[in-house]
Amino acid sequence: MSDKNQNKDTSPVSKNISYSNIDITNSERAKIKNQNPCCIWLTGLSGSGKSTIANMLDKELYRLGKHSFILDGDNIRHGLSSDLGFSRKDRHENIRRIGHTCRLMTDAGLIVISAFISPDSKIRNFIKSNIFKNKDFIEVYLNTDIETCIKRDPKNLYKKALAGEIKDFTGIDAPYDIPENPDIILDTEKHSVKECVGKILDIISNNGK
Ligand code: ADP
Repeated sequence: MSDKNQNKDTSPVSKNISYSNIDITNSERAKIKNQNPCCIWLTGLSGSGKSTIANMLDKELYRLGKHSFILDGDNIRHGLSSDLGFSRKDRHENIRRIGHTCRLMTDAGLIVISAFISPDSKIRNFIKSNIFKNKDFIEVYLNTDIETCIKRDPKNLYKKALAGEIKDFTGIDAPYDIPENPDIILDTEKHSVKECVGKILDIISNNGK
């Protein structure tokens, strides 16, 4: 992560905005935490396993003495993005805000685990290349097919979407862009939660080396 606290995507609407200088660098913050901060970006359909894997990964990192934090869909929509709905534009804005939040937390020295469907590859790529400058951002694709997700249906959302009670539901009547070049692909039908978490931990321990 660059040592400049410059978390920028567009120019500010207001003029006379500049960056304040902060003397402690990101590397110094990371050093006192004894970890390589990064963002683990989990993407996949609803029911693919993002929350389950995020939770076990967080617990494993905690057990290893690493400081992590989970950003999860519904929690963000209660606060930071409570003004946003599920139109294409709102979904974009939701993910853009999350991307910046992840970067701020990574700058602060944490291992951030984000668990959002994030169906649009353009915005995922934007976060990786513009907000993270292609560094310390690990895109993890949960490759779970729609039939399995419908069978699992942990929150009964597919049932509602298939009955027409929820509109614009990813995988049913809204698209999901399969990542073209993810850092890890996890097949949650073949591999257990523990195995999937193990693969992510391997990547985290090699990050920055
Ligand atoms: P999402 O957050 O992607 O909507 P959830 O984690 O809420 O998905 O639900 C995934 C469901 O699939 C859970 O009930 C979980 O126990 C189950 N599951 C079965 N195998 C796996 C696996 N290998 N990885 C993750 N979840 C799995």
